[in-house]
Amino acid sequence: MLCSNCFSNEGLKITAEKIGDKSETACENCGSNDGLELSKEKLVELMQVFFSQGSVLQNIGGYAPVYKISDKKEMESVEFEEPLKSDYELLKQKTDLVVFHYGPPLWRLGLTEQYDALTESNDEEKEKALNDILEASNEIILPIGTKLYRLRINANDLLNNTTFDTPRKDLKTSYSRFDTPDIDIFYSSPDLETCLHETRVTIADEIILATFKTKKELKILNIADSFTEKEGITEFEMISILMYKLCTTNEEEYEKCRFISEFIKKNEFEGFKFLSYYTNVKDEELYNIAIFGFPLKEDKIELQSINRIKLRRVDYTFSFGPAI
Ligand SMILES: [Zn+2]
Repeated sequence: MLCSNCFSNEGLKITAEKIGDKSETACENCGSNDGLELSKEKLVELMQVFFSQGSVLQNIGGYAPVYKISDKKEMESVEFEEPLKSDYELLKQKTDLVVFHYGPPLWRLGLTEQYDALTESNDEEKEKALNDILEASNEIILPIGTKLYRLRINANDLLNNTTFDTPRKDLKTSYSRFDTPDIDIFYSSPDLETCLHETRVTIADEIILATFKTKKELKILNIADSFTEKEGITEFEMISILMYKLCTTNEEEYEKCRFISEFIKKNEFEGFKFLSYYTNVKDEELYNIAIFGFPLKEDKIELQSINRIKLRRVDYTFSFGPAI
């Protein structure tokens, strides 16, 4: 029907090569012999993958494509630039499908009732939202001997035992998602690759890994998964959707995250488990463990060993979508 060589937009062409099948005959549209053939079914798949999945925006903390496809002609609401414009016309002609701008329901963007309440300056509303989060989240007891990883980049004071503890306030230059000048947090992860993501290492860095084990049971709050949501609520009140949004969005949401960590601390938890931002680029969910204070100094954890880490290989997996 069509082949990958029928398209001019580079991303669309490469996506078509991935989806298409080898063919012995020349393409009936462009006459090419070495393109990958796409049946009508494959062309529909190509439109879904490229226009819909390919237009999901980064950093909004939810699955919300900008474009979707429809078999209702009147839904069409897009105008692409050349050469994508001609590619799209060709696809439209062969599949009878059109692309339209998709306005997702707000909860898909994580904009739940509690999200709004955390945004407002009304303290009572904020407190109620924080209580909702606490109620829906479950307690976890980290048993003695739980392994936690933590990385330092370009550290030059390896012999100092406190090097890997929560940094002292006077040494801190910036704050992260949940910590503030009043809330000290030891960030760690049970997963080594998550640590590498979280510390945003580059191939130029000297990476030092510290492996810790917990010395006592630690009572932490799980704000990452397995929430106990209230019965009969809508997506607009779901804490799992809210926490996914807050943990997989960038700096914009740090203020709300910090309200939550402050509230968890006030409710006498020793830390919390939260979703890693890098869950965005992994098939499985990645987690971090945050412990309040200075757990090494406070004898809650012990340093088991340190290692140097060398990055041997970095792989990128990506897909394409329309840019304009
Ligand atoms: Zn062709």
